Amino acid sequence: MAQATRTFWTQAEALEFIMKRQKNNNSGEILYLFSFESQPEGKRRYQVADIDVFIHEYYQLPANQRHTYEIIIDKKPSKLYFDLEYDISANPKINGPRLTTNFIQFVLNFMRKRSDDLDYSIKDVLILDSTSTKKFSRHLIFQTKDPFLDNIAVGKFVNLILEDIHGCLINHQCQTVINSLTSQIQSNFDSLVFAKNLLSSLESHLLRFEQCNCIDDYTQLKFKDMIEFIVNKSDGSGITWFCDMGVYTKNRAFRLLRSSKFDKQECFTVAPENQWKPILRRVRPSSTEPNETERQTFMASLVYFNKPIRRFIHVDDENLTAIQTINSRVQRSNQSSYITEDVRKMSLDYPELINFMTNIARDKKDNGSGIRISRLYKVKEIQNDFRWVIHFMYVGDYKYCENIKRHHKQNNIYFIVDMRKGTYRQKCHDPDCKTFQGIEQSLPKHVTPWLMILDDEWENQTS
Ligand SMILES: [Zn+2]
Ligand SMILES: [Zn+2]
Repeated sequence: MAQATRTFWTQAEALEFIMKRQKNNNSGEILYLFSFESQPEGKRRYQVADIDVFIHEYYQLPANQRHTYEIIIDKKPSKLYFDLEYDISANPKINGPRLTTNFIQFVLNFMRKRSDDLDYSIKDVLILDSTSTKKFSRHLIFQTKDPFLDNIAVGKFVNLILEDIHGCLINHQCQTVINSLTSQIQSNFDSLVFAKNLLSSLESHLLRFEQCNCIDDYTQLKFKDMIEFIVNKSDGSGITWFCDMGVYTKNRAFRLLRSSKFDKQECFTVAPENQWKPILRRVRPSSTEPNETERQTFMASLVYFNKPIRRFIHVDDENLTAIQTINSRVQRSNQSSYITEDVRKMSLDYPELINFMTNIARDKKDNGSGIRISRLYKVKEIQNDFRWVIHFMYVGDYKYCENIKRHHKQNNIYFIVDMRKGTYRQKCHDPDCKTFQGIEQSLPKHVTPWLMILDDEWENQTS
Protein backbone atom coordinates (compact mmCIF):
# COMPACT_ATOMS: atom_id res chain seq x y z
CA MET A 1 0.00 0.00 0.00
CA ALA A 2 1.29 3.39 -0.92
CA GLN A 3 2.13 5.60 2.01
CA ALA A 4 -0.21 8.49 2.04
CA THR A 5 0.64 12.12 1.99
CA ARG A 6 -1.73 14.66 0.55
CA THR A 7 -2.18 18.37 0.83
CA PHE A 8 -5.46 20.27 1.02
CA TRP A 9 -6.56 23.90 1.14
CA THR A 10 -9.14 23.38 3.84
CA GLN A 11 -9.18 21.43 7.07
CA ALA A 12 -12.61 20.00 6.27
CA GLU A 13 -11.34 18.37 3.08
CA ALA A 14 -8.34 16.95 4.90
CA LEU A 15 -10.50 15.49 7.67
CA GLU A 16 -12.86 13.97 5.12
CA PHE A 17 -9.92 12.34 3.35
CA ILE A 18 -8.76 10.80 6.64
CA MET A 19 -12.24 9.52 7.43
CA LYS A 20 -12.62 7.86 4.02
CA ARG A 21 -9.19 6.40 4.12
CA GLN A 22 -9.79 4.88 7.54
CA LYS A 23 -13.12 3.44 6.47
CA ASN A 24 -11.58 1.72 3.45
CA ASN A 25 -8.66 0.01 5.09
CA ASN A 26 -8.23 -2.20 8.09
CA SER A 27 -4.47 -2.24 8.13
CA GLY A 28 -4.37 0.04 11.14
CA GLU A 29 -2.77 2.79 9.12
CA ILE A 30 -2.40 5.90 11.25
CA LEU A 31 -2.63 9.23 9.52
CA TYR A 32 -1.63 12.51 11.08
CA LEU A 33 -2.97 15.90 10.15
CA PHE A 34 -0.70 18.91 10.04
CA SER A 35 -1.26 22.48 8.99
CA PHE A 36 1.46 24.73 7.70
CA GLU A 37 1.88 28.29 6.63
CA SER A 38 3.15 28.15 3.08
CA GLN A 39 5.31 30.48 1.04
CA PRO A 40 5.03 33.18 -0.14
CA GLU A 41 2.48 34.96 2.04
CA GLY A 42 1.78 32.39 4.74
CA LYS A 43 -1.49 30.96 3.53
CA ARG A 44 -2.52 28.01 5.64
CA ARG A 45 -2.64 24.54 4.07
CA TYR A 46 -3.32 21.08 5.44
CA GLN A 47 -1.29 17.94 5.00
CA VAL A 48 -2.45 14.43 5.76
CA ALA A 49 0.50 12.11 6.13
CA ASP A 50 1.90 8.87 7.35
CA ILE A 51 4.24 9.88 10.16
CA ASP A 52 7.43 8.43 8.66
CA VAL A 53 6.87 10.16 5.36
CA PHE A 54 6.09 13.38 7.17
CA ILE A 55 9.15 13.34 9.43
CA HIS A 56 11.42 12.66 6.49
CA GLU A 57 10.05 15.62 4.53
CA TYR A 58 9.84 17.90 7.56
CA TYR A 59 13.50 17.54 8.43
CA GLN A 60 14.51 18.18 4.81
CA LEU A 61 13.00 21.65 5.00
CA PRO A 62 15.33 24.56 5.77
CA ALA A 63 14.87 25.54 9.42
CA ASN A 64 13.47 28.96 8.56
CA GLN A 65 10.75 27.41 6.43
CA ARG A 66 9.23 25.21 9.09
CA HIS A 67 5.92 26.75 10.18
CA THR A 68 4.02 23.58 10.87
CA TYR A 69 1.33 22.67 13.42
CA GLU A 70 -0.11 19.38 14.58
CA ILE A 71 -3.88 19.37 14.32
CA ILE A 72 -5.13 17.68 17.48
CA ILE A 73 -7.94 15.76 15.82
CA ASP A 74 -11.28 15.52 17.54
CA LYS A 75 -12.08 12.26 19.34
CA LYS A 76 -8.56 10.81 19.16
CA PRO A 77 -6.54 9.57 22.14
CA SER A 78 -4.53 12.43 23.53
CA LYS A 79 -1.53 12.96 25.78
CA LEU A 80 -1.65 15.44 28.63
CA TYR A 81 -0.26 18.70 27.27
CA PHE A 82 0.08 22.32 28.32
CA ASP A 83 0.76 25.59 26.61
CA LEU A 84 2.47 27.83 29.18
CA GLU A 85 3.10 31.49 28.51
CA TYR A 86 3.34 34.98 29.92
CA ASP A 87 4.38 38.42 28.79
CA ILE A 88 7.88 39.12 30.10
CA SER A 89 7.61 42.88 30.60
CA ALA A 90 4.25 42.55 32.38
CA ASN A 91 5.76 39.98 34.79
CA PRO A 92 9.28 41.26 35.47
CA LYS A 93 9.81 39.34 38.71
CA ILE A 94 9.01 35.88 37.42
CA ASN A 95 11.74 33.33 36.74
CA GLY A 96 10.21 31.37 33.88
CA PRO A 97 12.09 28.05 34.06
CA ARG A 98 11.58 27.95 37.83
CA LEU A 99 7.89 28.69 37.43
CA THR A 100 7.68 25.93 34.82
CA THR A 101 9.20 23.31 37.10
CA ASN A 102 7.01 24.47 40.01
CA PHE A 103 3.97 24.11 37.80
CA ILE A 104 5.05 20.63 36.73
CA GLN A 105 5.60 19.69 40.37
CA PHE A 106 2.08 20.78 41.19
CA VAL A 107 0.61 18.82 38.27
CA LEU A 108 2.58 15.66 39.12
CA ASN A 109 1.40 15.92 42.70
CA PHE A 110 -2.17 16.38 41.63
CA MET A 111 -1.90 13.26 39.47
CA ARG A 112 -0.39 11.20 42.28
CA LYS A 113 -3.14 12.36 44.59
CA ARG A 114 -5.77 11.19 42.15
CA SER A 115 -4.45 7.72 41.55
CA ASP A 116 -1.48 5.47 42.19
CA ASP A 117 -1.58 4.77 38.45
CA LEU A 118 -0.65 8.37 37.79
CA ASP A 119 2.68 8.32 39.57
CA TYR A 120 5.12 10.12 37.30
CA SER A 121 8.17 12.32 37.66
CA ILE A 122 9.55 15.32 35.85
CA LYS A 123 11.56 12.88 33.75
CA ASP A 124 8.29 11.86 32.09
CA VAL A 125 7.60 15.36 30.86
CA LEU A 126 9.01 16.67 27.60
CA ILE A 127 9.50 20.44 27.96
CA LEU A 128 9.79 22.54 24.82
CA ASP A 129 10.81 26.17 24.68
CA SER A 130 9.88 28.93 22.26
CA THR A 131 10.64 32.00 24.32
CA SER A 132 11.20 35.32 22.58
CA THR A 133 12.38 38.62 24.02
CA LYS A 134 8.74 39.54 24.59
CA LYS A 135 7.05 36.32 25.58
CA PHE A 136 8.02 33.39 27.76
CA SER A 137 6.69 30.24 26.13
CA ARG A 138 6.80 26.55 26.96
CA HIS A 139 4.99 23.45 25.81
CA LEU A 140 4.73 20.47 28.16
CA ILE A 141 3.91 17.03 26.78
CA PHE A 142 3.47 14.32 29.42
CA GLN A 143 4.66 10.85 28.42
CA THR A 144 2.10 8.85 30.38
CA LYS A 145 1.48 5.15 29.80
CA ASP A 146 -2.21 5.76 29.19
CA PRO A 147 -3.91 8.43 27.12
CA PHE A 148 -6.96 10.59 27.67
CA LEU A 149 -10.02 9.89 25.58
CA ASP A 150 -9.46 13.08 23.60
CA ASN A 151 -8.15 16.59 24.13
CA ILE A 152 -11.52 17.75 25.46
CA ALA A 153 -11.01 15.30 28.35
CA VAL A 154 -7.53 16.77 28.82
CA GLY A 155 -9.14 20.21 29.12
CA LYS A 156 -11.45 18.93 31.84
CA PHE A 157 -8.52 17.38 33.67
CA VAL A 158 -6.60 20.67 33.53
CA ASN A 159 -9.66 22.42 34.93
CA LEU A 160 -9.50 20.09 37.92
CA ILE A 161 -5.86 21.07 38.40
CA LEU A 162 -6.75 24.75 38.32
CA GLU A 163 -9.53 24.08 40.78
CA ASP A 164 -7.01 22.44 43.08
CA ILE A 165 -4.68 25.44 42.83
CA HIS A 166 -7.63 27.67 43.60
CA GLY A 167 -8.58 25.51 46.59
CA CYS A 168 -5.02 25.47 47.93
CA LEU A 169 -4.69 29.24 47.80
CA ILE A 170 -8.12 30.29 48.88
CA ASN A 171 -8.10 28.05 51.94
CA HIS A 172 -4.64 28.83 53.23
CA GLN A 173 -4.52 30.53 56.59
CA CYS A 174 -1.62 31.84 58.57
CA GLN A 175 -0.58 34.92 60.51
CA THR A 176 -0.19 36.95 57.36
CA VAL A 177 -2.98 35.45 55.33
CA ILE A 178 -6.39 35.68 56.93
CA ASN A 179 -9.11 33.92 55.10
CA SER A 180 -12.01 35.89 53.79
CA LEU A 181 -14.06 33.76 51.48
CA THR A 182 -16.55 35.87 49.69
CA SER A 183 -16.70 34.87 46.09
CA GLN A 184 -18.73 32.17 44.43
CA ILE A 185 -17.99 30.23 41.29
CA GLN A 186 -20.82 30.11 38.85
CA SER A 187 -21.47 26.72 37.38
CA ASN A 188 -20.39 26.36 33.78
CA PHE A 189 -19.54 23.49 31.48
CA ASP A 190 -17.13 25.40 29.30
CA SER A 191 -13.51 24.83 30.39
CA LEU A 192 -12.46 28.33 29.45
CA VAL A 193 -15.30 30.01 31.30
CA PHE A 194 -14.75 27.79 34.35
CA ALA A 195 -11.05 28.71 34.44
CA LYS A 196 -11.97 32.39 34.18
CA ASN A 197 -14.46 32.14 37.00
CA LEU A 198 -11.83 30.55 39.23
CA LEU A 199 -9.53 33.44 38.43
CA SER A 200 -11.95 36.17 39.31
CA SER A 201 -12.70 34.45 42.60
CA LEU A 202 -8.96 34.33 43.36
CA GLU A 203 -8.10 37.83 42.26
CA SER A 204 -8.77 39.59 45.55
CA HIS A 205 -6.74 36.98 47.47
CA LEU A 206 -3.47 37.19 45.61
CA LEU A 207 -1.92 40.21 47.27
CA ARG A 208 -2.35 38.65 50.68
CA PHE A 209 0.40 36.14 49.95
CA GLU A 210 3.22 38.65 49.69
CA GLN A 211 4.26 38.19 53.32
CA CYS A 212 3.42 34.49 53.54
CA ASN A 213 6.30 32.03 53.69
CA CYS A 214 4.27 28.90 54.31
CA ILE A 215 4.74 25.71 52.33
CA ASP A 216 1.88 23.58 51.08
CA ASP A 217 2.04 20.15 52.75
CA TYR A 218 1.38 18.20 49.64
CA THR A 219 3.25 19.85 46.86
CA GLN A 220 6.03 21.20 49.09
CA LEU A 221 5.64 24.42 47.13
CA LYS A 222 5.48 27.80 48.77
CA PHE A 223 2.10 29.49 48.44
CA LYS A 224 4.07 32.50 47.34
CA ASP A 225 5.34 30.47 44.37
CA MET A 226 1.92 29.06 43.64
CA ILE A 227 0.39 32.47 43.10
CA GLU A 228 2.80 32.81 40.17
CA PHE A 229 0.61 30.29 38.33
CA ILE A 230 -1.49 33.40 37.82
CA VAL A 231 0.26 35.99 35.66
CA ASN A 232 -0.36 39.54 34.46
CA LYS A 233 -1.73 39.95 30.97
CA SER A 234 0.45 41.70 28.42
CA ASP A 235 -1.80 44.73 28.00
CA GLY A 236 -2.06 45.31 31.74
CA SER A 237 -5.77 44.53 31.61
CA GLY A 238 -5.73 42.04 34.45
CA ILE A 239 -4.58 38.54 35.25
CA THR A 240 -4.71 35.18 33.55
CA TRP A 241 -3.58 31.60 34.13
CA PHE A 242 0.02 30.71 33.25
CA CYS A 243 -1.39 27.80 31.25
CA ASP A 244 -3.45 28.77 28.25
CA MET A 245 -6.89 27.20 28.54
CA GLY A 246 -7.68 27.88 24.89
CA VAL A 247 -5.71 24.89 23.60
CA TYR A 248 -8.22 22.18 24.48
CA THR A 249 -10.70 22.81 21.70
CA LYS A 250 -11.76 20.63 18.80
CA ASN A 251 -9.18 20.26 16.00
CA ARG A 252 -6.79 22.63 17.70
CA ALA A 253 -3.50 23.52 15.97
CA PHE A 254 -0.40 23.03 18.16
CA ARG A 255 2.95 24.23 16.85
CA LEU A 256 5.55 21.50 16.24
CA LEU A 257 9.03 21.00 17.60
CA ARG A 258 11.48 22.90 15.31
CA SER A 259 8.71 25.12 13.90
CA SER A 260 8.29 28.86 14.21
CA LYS A 261 5.33 31.09 13.51
CA PHE A 262 5.36 32.37 9.93
CA ASP A 263 6.38 35.89 10.86
CA LYS A 264 8.61 34.99 13.82
CA GLN A 265 12.05 33.56 14.45
CA GLU A 266 11.61 31.46 17.57
CA CYS A 267 10.99 27.82 16.94
CA PHE A 268 10.24 25.19 19.57
CA THR A 269 13.36 23.47 20.87
CA VAL A 270 13.97 21.24 23.86
CA ALA A 271 13.97 23.51 26.93
CA PRO A 272 17.08 23.80 29.14
CA GLU A 273 15.19 22.45 32.19
CA ASN A 274 13.87 19.41 30.30
CA GLN A 275 14.80 16.08 31.92
CA TRP A 276 12.94 13.70 29.66
CA LYS A 277 15.26 11.57 27.55
CA PRO A 278 14.68 9.25 24.62
CA ILE A 279 15.45 5.57 25.13
CA LEU A 280 18.38 4.88 22.92
CA ARG A 281 18.84 1.33 21.84
CA ARG A 282 22.00 0.51 19.99
CA VAL A 283 21.35 2.26 16.71
CA ARG A 284 23.45 1.92 13.67
CA PRO A 285 24.83 5.24 12.60
CA SER A 286 22.71 6.70 9.86
CA SER A 287 23.18 9.64 7.61
CA THR A 288 19.49 10.30 7.16
CA GLU A 289 17.87 13.17 8.97
CA PRO A 290 16.64 13.13 11.65
CA ASN A 291 18.78 10.91 13.82
CA GLU A 292 17.24 8.53 16.37
CA THR A 293 17.36 10.98 19.30
CA GLU A 294 15.69 13.68 17.28
CA ARG A 295 13.09 11.29 15.91
CA GLN A 296 12.08 10.02 19.33
CA THR A 297 11.96 13.54 20.69
CA PHE A 298 9.75 14.56 17.79
CA MET A 299 7.38 11.64 18.37
CA ALA A 300 7.24 12.48 22.08
CA SER A 301 6.39 16.08 21.23
CA LEU A 302 3.21 15.10 19.34
CA VAL A 303 -0.04 15.32 21.27
CA TYR A 304 -1.67 12.40 19.52
CA PHE A 305 -1.15 9.21 21.57
CA ASN A 306 0.28 6.72 19.11
CA LYS A 307 0.85 3.60 21.21
CA PRO A 308 -1.15 0.53 22.16
CA ILE A 309 -3.95 1.55 24.50
CA ARG A 310 -4.52 -0.42 27.73
CA ARG A 311 -7.06 1.99 29.15
CA PHE A 312 -7.86 5.68 29.30
CA ILE A 313 -7.08 8.09 32.09
CA HIS A 314 -10.49 8.67 33.52
CA VAL A 315 -11.92 12.14 33.99
CA ASP A 316 -15.50 12.29 35.17
CA ASP A 317 -17.55 15.35 34.71
CA GLU A 318 -16.35 16.54 38.05
CA ASN A 319 -16.44 20.18 37.16
CA LEU A 320 -20.03 20.47 38.13
CA THR A 321 -19.57 18.78 41.49
CA ALA A 322 -16.38 20.73 42.00
CA ILE A 323 -18.32 23.89 41.55
CA GLN A 324 -20.93 22.75 44.01
CA THR A 325 -18.15 21.93 46.41
CA ILE A 326 -16.65 25.35 46.19
CA ASN A 327 -20.03 26.87 46.80
CA SER A 328 -20.71 24.63 49.73
CA ARG A 329 -17.32 25.48 51.16
CA VAL A 330 -18.09 29.11 50.84
CA GLN A 331 -21.49 28.77 52.39
CA ARG A 332 -20.43 26.61 55.28
CA SER A 333 -17.38 28.45 56.27
CA ASN A 334 -17.06 31.49 58.35
CA GLN A 335 -13.34 31.05 58.64
CA SER A 336 -11.70 27.67 58.69
CA SER A 337 -14.01 24.99 57.40
CA TYR A 338 -13.13 23.36 54.17
CA ILE A 339 -14.87 20.24 53.12
CA THR A 340 -14.27 18.59 49.82
CA GLU A 341 -16.68 16.58 47.80
CA ASP A 342 -14.76 13.52 48.89
CA VAL A 343 -15.22 14.18 52.56
CA ARG A 344 -18.85 14.93 51.95
CA LYS A 345 -19.33 11.59 50.23
CA MET A 346 -17.44 9.94 53.06
CA SER A 347 -19.72 11.58 55.59
CA LEU A 348 -22.62 9.76 54.02
CA ASP A 349 -20.83 6.42 53.97
CA TYR A 350 -19.14 6.58 57.37
CA PRO A 351 -20.86 9.30 59.41
CA GLU A 352 -19.61 8.09 62.82
CA LEU A 353 -16.04 7.85 61.66
CA ILE A 354 -16.02 11.27 60.07
CA ASN A 355 -17.54 12.76 63.17
CA PHE A 356 -14.91 11.11 65.37
CA MET A 357 -11.99 12.14 63.17
CA THR A 358 -13.29 15.69 63.00
CA ASN A 359 -13.40 15.90 66.78
CA ILE A 360 -9.89 14.57 67.18
CA ALA A 361 -8.51 17.61 65.43
CA ARG A 362 -10.38 20.13 67.48
CA ASP A 363 -8.43 22.23 69.85
CA LYS A 364 -9.49 23.02 73.41
CA LYS A 365 -9.16 26.69 72.66
CA ASP A 366 -11.37 26.24 69.63
CA ASN A 367 -14.92 27.36 70.24
CA GLY A 368 -16.10 24.19 68.63
CA SER A 369 -17.51 25.55 65.41
CA GLY A 370 -14.53 25.04 63.17
CA ILE A 371 -14.57 21.99 60.99
CA ARG A 372 -11.03 20.88 60.53
CA ILE A 373 -11.04 18.13 57.96
CA SER A 374 -9.24 19.49 55.00
CA ARG A 375 -9.48 19.43 51.29
CA LEU A 376 -8.80 15.81 50.60
CA TYR A 377 -8.30 12.36 51.84
CA LYS A 378 -6.28 9.74 50.13
CA VAL A 379 -7.52 6.23 49.93
CA LYS A 380 -5.32 3.25 49.31
CA GLU A 381 -6.36 -0.22 48.34
CA ILE A 382 -9.99 -0.09 47.44
CA GLN A 383 -11.47 -3.60 47.24
CA ASN A 384 -15.08 -4.21 46.34
CA ASP A 385 -15.71 -0.56 46.90
CA PHE A 386 -14.35 -0.79 50.43
CA ARG A 387 -11.67 1.67 51.46
CA TRP A 388 -9.04 0.02 53.60
CA VAL A 389 -6.79 2.90 54.46
CA ILE A 390 -7.89 6.49 54.61
CA HIS A 391 -5.73 9.53 55.16
CA PHE A 392 -7.38 12.45 56.91
CA MET A 393 -5.80 15.78 56.20
CA TYR A 394 -6.49 18.91 58.16
CA VAL A 395 -6.26 22.62 57.62
CA GLY A 396 -6.35 25.37 60.18
CA ASP A 397 -4.46 25.84 63.42
CA TYR A 398 -4.67 22.31 64.73
CA LYS A 399 -1.16 20.97 64.14
CA TYR A 400 -0.52 19.05 67.31
CA CYS A 401 2.16 16.46 66.66
CA GLU A 402 2.83 13.59 69.07
CA ASN A 403 6.41 13.54 67.94
CA ILE A 404 7.31 17.01 69.19
CA LYS A 405 4.49 17.08 71.78
CA ARG A 406 3.26 20.49 70.66
CA HIS A 407 1.68 22.20 67.68
CA HIS A 408 3.81 22.72 64.60
CA LYS A 409 4.14 26.27 63.42
CA GLN A 410 3.78 25.59 59.73
CA ASN A 411 3.26 22.05 58.58
CA ASN A 412 0.06 20.22 59.16
CA ILE A 413 -0.40 16.78 60.64
CA TYR A 414 -2.65 14.03 59.37
CA PHE A 415 -4.14 10.77 60.51
CA ILE A 416 -4.16 7.41 58.84
CA VAL A 417 -7.16 5.24 59.51
CA ASP A 418 -6.87 1.51 58.94
CA MET A 419 -10.41 0.46 58.23
CA ARG A 420 -9.77 -3.26 58.54
CA LYS A 421 -8.08 -3.08 61.90
CA GLY A 422 -10.26 -0.26 63.15
CA THR A 423 -7.30 1.84 64.22
CA TYR A 424 -5.82 5.24 63.60
CA ARG A 425 -2.45 6.84 64.05
CA GLN A 426 -1.02 10.28 63.59
CA LYS A 427 1.56 11.18 60.97
CA CYS A 428 3.12 14.48 60.10
CA HIS A 429 3.98 16.56 57.05
CA ASP A 430 6.89 18.28 58.74
CA PRO A 431 10.16 17.23 57.08
CA ASP A 432 11.67 16.53 60.53
CA CYS A 433 8.85 14.10 61.32
CA LYS A 434 8.87 12.40 57.95
CA THR A 435 9.46 8.91 59.30
CA PHE A 436 7.45 9.42 62.46
CA GLN A 437 4.56 7.01 63.08
CA GLY A 438 2.21 7.87 65.93
CA ILE A 439 1.03 5.22 68.34
CA GLU A 440 -1.64 3.06 66.79
CA GLN A 441 -4.90 3.57 68.64
CA SER A 442 -8.19 1.77 68.42
CA LEU A 443 -11.22 3.53 67.09
CA PRO A 444 -14.24 3.22 69.39
CA LYS A 445 -16.51 0.34 68.41
CA HIS A 446 -19.49 2.55 67.59
CA VAL A 447 -17.36 4.38 65.04
CA THR A 448 -16.61 1.26 63.06
CA PRO A 449 -19.97 -0.50 62.52
CA TRP A 450 -18.69 -2.21 59.38
CA LEU A 451 -16.21 -4.19 61.44
CA MET A 452 -19.02 -5.94 63.30
CA ILE A 453 -20.41 -7.12 59.99
CA LEU A 454 -17.01 -8.25 58.81
CA ASP A 455 -16.33 -10.06 62.07
CA ASP A 456 -19.67 -11.82 61.87
CA GLU A 457 -18.92 -12.99 58.37
CA TRP A 458 -15.53 -14.15 59.46
CA GLU A 459 -17.00 -16.13 62.33
CA ASN A 460 -19.61 -17.68 60.07
CA GLN A 461 -16.94 -18.76 57.65
CA THR A 462 -14.69 -20.31 60.24
CA SER A 463 -17.39 -22.09 62.18
ZN1 LIG B 1 1.01 31.49 54.99
ZN1 LIG C 1 5.51 16.53 63.50
